[in-house]
Amino acid sequence: MKRDLIEILACPVCRGSLSLSVAKEDDAEIIDGALECKKCPESYPIVGAIPNLLPPRSRP
Ligand SMILES: [Zn+2]
Repeated sequence: MKRDLIEILACPVCRGSLSLSVAKEDDAEIIDGALECKKCPESYPIVGAIPNLLPPRSRP
Protein backbone atom coordinates (compact mmCIF):
# COMPACT_ATOMS: atom_id res chain seq x y z
CA MET A 1 0.00 0.00 0.00
CA LYS A 2 1.03 3.58 -0.50
CA ARG A 3 2.34 5.22 2.65
CA ASP A 4 -0.11 8.12 2.14
CA LEU A 5 -3.02 5.74 2.54
CA ILE A 6 -2.56 5.80 6.30
CA GLU A 7 -4.08 9.31 6.23
CA ILE A 8 -7.44 8.09 4.96
CA LEU A 9 -7.70 4.69 6.60
CA ALA A 10 -9.49 4.25 9.88
CA CYS A 11 -10.03 1.32 12.21
CA PRO A 12 -13.16 -0.54 11.04
CA VAL A 13 -14.01 -1.43 14.62
CA CYS A 14 -13.85 1.93 16.39
CA ARG A 15 -13.07 4.40 13.56
CA GLY A 16 -9.90 5.40 15.39
CA SER A 17 -6.80 6.44 13.51
CA LEU A 18 -4.14 3.88 12.71
CA SER A 19 -0.40 3.86 13.14
CA LEU A 20 1.86 2.18 10.65
CA SER A 21 4.45 -0.42 11.47
CA VAL A 22 6.62 -1.29 8.48
CA ALA A 23 8.36 -4.64 8.12
CA LYS A 24 9.27 -4.39 4.43
CA GLU A 25 8.93 -1.60 1.89
CA ASP A 26 10.21 -0.56 -1.51
CA ASP A 27 10.49 2.88 -3.13
CA ALA A 28 6.77 3.22 -3.69
CA GLU A 29 4.92 1.05 -1.24
CA ILE A 30 4.80 -0.75 2.05
CA ILE A 31 4.99 -4.43 1.20
CA ASP A 32 4.63 -6.04 4.61
CA GLY A 33 3.77 -4.59 7.95
CA ALA A 34 0.84 -3.80 10.15
CA LEU A 35 -1.67 -1.08 10.87
CA GLU A 36 -2.22 -0.68 14.59
CA CYS A 37 -5.21 1.11 16.01
CA LYS A 38 -4.40 3.93 18.40
CA LYS A 39 -7.74 3.68 20.22
CA CYS A 40 -8.42 -0.04 20.58
CA PRO A 41 -6.19 -3.13 20.70
CA GLU A 42 -6.83 -4.22 17.14
CA SER A 43 -4.18 -4.41 14.46
CA TYR A 44 -4.44 -5.22 10.77
CA PRO A 45 -1.79 -6.93 8.68
CA ILE A 46 -0.37 -5.60 5.43
CA VAL A 47 0.62 -8.58 3.28
CA GLY A 48 1.90 -8.33 -0.28
CA ALA A 49 1.22 -4.56 -0.22
CA ILE A 50 -2.48 -5.13 0.50
CA PRO A 51 -3.83 -3.89 3.83
CA ASN A 52 -6.33 -6.30 5.36
CA LEU A 53 -8.81 -4.17 7.26
CA LEU A 54 -11.22 -6.92 8.13
CA PRO A 55 -11.82 -7.09 11.86
CA PRO A 56 -9.50 -9.79 13.20
CA ARG A 57 -12.13 -11.36 15.43
CA SER A 58 -15.76 -12.03 14.77
CA ARG A 59 -17.98 -9.98 17.00
CA PRO A 60 -21.43 -10.57 18.42
ZN1 LIG B 1 -9.85 0.60 16.72
